[in-house]
Amino acid sequence: MRRTALLLLAFAALPAQAATVLHCERLFDARSGRVLGAHTVVVRDGRIASVQPGRAEVPDATAVDLAGRTCLPGWTDLHVHLGSQSGPQSYSEGFRLDPVDFAYRSVGYARSTLLAGFTSVRDLGGEVAPHLRDAIEQGLVEGPRIFAAGKSIATTGGHADPTNGYNSMLSHLLGPPGPTEGVINSVDDARQAVRQRYKDGSDVIKITATGGVLSYARSGDAPQFTVDEIQAVVDTAKDYGYTVAAHAHGTEGMKRAVLAGVTSIEHGTHMTDEVMRLMREHGTWYVPTLYAGRFVAEKAAEPGYFPEIVRPKAATIGAQIQETAARAYRAGVKIAFGTDQGVGPHGDNAREFLYMVEAGIPAAYALQAATVHAATVLGVDDQGAIETGHRADIIAVPGDPVADIAAVLDVQFVMKDGEIYKSP
Ligand SMILES: [Zn+2]
Repeated sequence: MRRTALLLLAFAALPAQAATVLHCERLFDARSGRVLGAHTVVVRDGRIASVQPGRAEVPDATAVDLAGRTCLPGWTDLHVHLGSQSGPQSYSEGFRLDPVDFAYRSVGYARSTLLAGFTSVRDLGGEVAPHLRDAIEQGLVEGPRIFAAGKSIATTGGHADPTNGYNSMLSHLLGPPGPTEGVINSVDDARQAVRQRYKDGSDVIKITATGGVLSYARSGDAPQFTVDEIQAVVDTAKDYGYTVAAHAHGTEGMKRAVLAGVTSIEHGTHMTDEVMRLMREHGTWYVPTLYAGRFVAEKAAEPGYFPEIVRPKAATIGAQIQETAARAYRAGVKIAFGTDQGVGPHGDNAREFLYMVEAGIPAAYALQAATVHAATVLGVDDQGAIETGHRADIIAVPGDPVADIAAVLDVQFVMKDGEIYKSP
């Protein structure tokens, strides 16, 4: 009792943080997908204290006038790799650069992502992310809130085998990678690899259920895990409260991942009607990453941009994703927002909205994909909507983004956890 009283006294002695009040000309209601009229949003201690229609004056609050603009919940990109950005040098840089070089680069990537309106990201692969997450949380660098997978889990020669393309001398020197490095070849390995990610401080598990475009390997489609192995990953992940994201291009690997109960399919290039039906039945989310598809298809046409083993995959897989996303939307598969940025340039994430709309996905749905849908995929209930009690992650764009989606490319106000990073 006495301790409680003392604690209360201690809190009462702390000065109350000044409130910030946002005067929004319009407000995107992420739950209904509708753009509402003028609203006043009061922010205190990093949280949304109140949301009310009209323009209300709040005494002793710092006011931000967002006339002519629409306020939206800060966006979430569910598929980024903040530890790198692809280019013609990527393959040789893997040999020349140290992890700390990639870490320095990631500081700029994180900042441009935040300033583009993305207050949260799910980083699906890369050892930099858990550390970058901590540095951002500690206020050492500016960036979005990061939900980090750490190292992706693959099988030998799979999309996320970190030794793909090494010559025989290097391979023999280093020895075959194992669960610690995220490479598994049995059910036991699968469990160990998930537990290692827990030890490394990951927030979510990523597996590469099929081959991939940019890895130094021939097939982008082949299944790369047995059903038992994926099942062991998913079951062990549950022990730690983790969700599982599965990178997949080919049908068989995608099907195995859905049946094993992963939370989301990433890319989903060769998704058949049968897989879509299974995803609806299992409640599996689809994160199409149209940006990456477009970007690699474009770069495949430039000689020398990709190694020759990668080029045909980039040309075909890349071109297919947008068509798949269009079919998946029409088939009623739940879609959430992700770019795979790090393939394309960090900070240009919002262009994904335009590609989604181009594929026939309504603008309002695309905006929900990056807000309420993304929060559901992350398994968090205090972000993704401008509601009392939510984290004060709020952005603003000119005009009305549902009427004209191009407005998303001009984010003029960014607030994360109540702190303003960009203001008109
Ligand atoms: Zn990726």
